[in-house]
Amino acid sequence: MDSGFTDHLKAVLAEIEADGFTKRERELVSPQGGTVRLEGSSERVINLCANNYLGLADEPAIVEAAGAALERYGFGMASVRFICGTNELHRALEERIASYLGKDDAILFGSCFDANGGIFETLLTAEDAVISDALNHASIIDGIRLSKAQRFRYANSDMDDLETQLKAADAAGARFKLIVTDGVFSMDGYVAKLPEICTLAEQYGALVMIDDCHATGHLGDKGRGTPALTGVGNRVDIISGTLGKTLGGAMGGFIAASQPIIDILRQRARPYLFSNALAPSIVAGSIKALEIAEAADDRRERLKRHAQRFRTALGEAGFDLLPGETPIIPVMLNDANRATAMAQELGRRGVMVTAFSFPVVPKGKARIRTQMSAALTDEDIGFAIGAFIDAGKALSII
Ligand SMILES: *Cc1c(COP(=O)(O)O)cnc(C)c1O
Repeated sequence: MDSGFTDHLKAVLAEIEADGFTKRERELVSPQGGTVRLEGSSERVINLCANNYLGLADEPAIVEAAGAALERYGFGMASVRFICGTNELHRALEERIASYLGKDDAILFGSCFDANGGIFETLLTAEDAVISDALNHASIIDGIRLSKAQRFRYANSDMDDLETQLKAADAAGARFKLIVTDGVFSMDGYVAKLPEICTLAEQYGALVMIDDCHATGHLGDKGRGTPALTGVGNRVDIISGTLGKTLGGAMGGFIAASQPIIDILRQRARPYLFSNALAPSIVAGSIKALEIAEAADDRRERLKRHAQRFRTALGEAGFDLLPGETPIIPVMLNDANRATAMAQELGRRGVMVTAFSFPVVPKGKARIRTQMSAALTDEDIGFAIGAFIDAGKALSII
């Protein structure tokens, strides 16, 4: 019995299409990299939209480490961690992540979406409060929804509002307070104001959690992320992160924190208890990725140089960019159809970018989010700048 349900879905899809919000997937027929080949084309295109900041997604040493683990341990674990799914590599990677980020211990999840999905419900009760930045990642928003904690939201990086919300949480009688923020806001490329956030947290007796998915491995000294970049170091209590971006780009998430926090997550976090363990090949590749990332000052330097050059050139050409210093450089088109048209024009010119529209960004704030990568050469960056200027003129955007 359908009762018009299919027609209803079709109508919703038609509305998404009419609004210019339809997301279409292009198929890669090459490894992920600075340049890629797409299905139906013989030409390689420059890729400006992967989270492949250090260019590790097709790194031979990582592929080799993953392959060796595949041979040695087989394809999958077919178990959650606590039953019989813990391989020696899982613990090795958790210890490696913890020491890299300067925490007691770490715990792996199937993704950072799962890590964020499980942490709030596990750590906080209705007696406690979570104070969340308005622009936090969807997984944090969903994780908070799943918890019983009292919820307070502050305007993006607005420290006055954060203080107001801390006071409101105190007035509501909160036992424990947890401030949570993205380390880098992924759609805008802004870095969280961690020094100010930590100072307020200390003043009001709150814990601080950051989601450093767009920072771990490439920002800060040795790639230790936004706490290193902003100089707050261990004043951040909890760090969530991903293995699916800079650290090889396969999959998996983690939380690094003090021992009791990790211990309670291992006992209680639902995405940990009720979801399969990461495949050993992915874990072995991620251990290698972490080792490479830690030592990759040369790649971090190239990434920074590309970002500065690209940002300066597009700004001078008259594009509307969001300001910042990360390798995320959003080119604002505002109108969703215009952003899609720009992405298509760039595609024709050999540069792969993605138009971001609602619900990934607010309505009327459509953009092309470009991301730099150490896998790109200086020539690639020059080519991409030329293509943007060309396409921008063709569409009368500049
Ligand atoms: C990508 C991302 C996630 C999700 O990470 P996965 O491991 O892909 O699930 C969570 N938070 C932020 C800020 C992200 O950018």
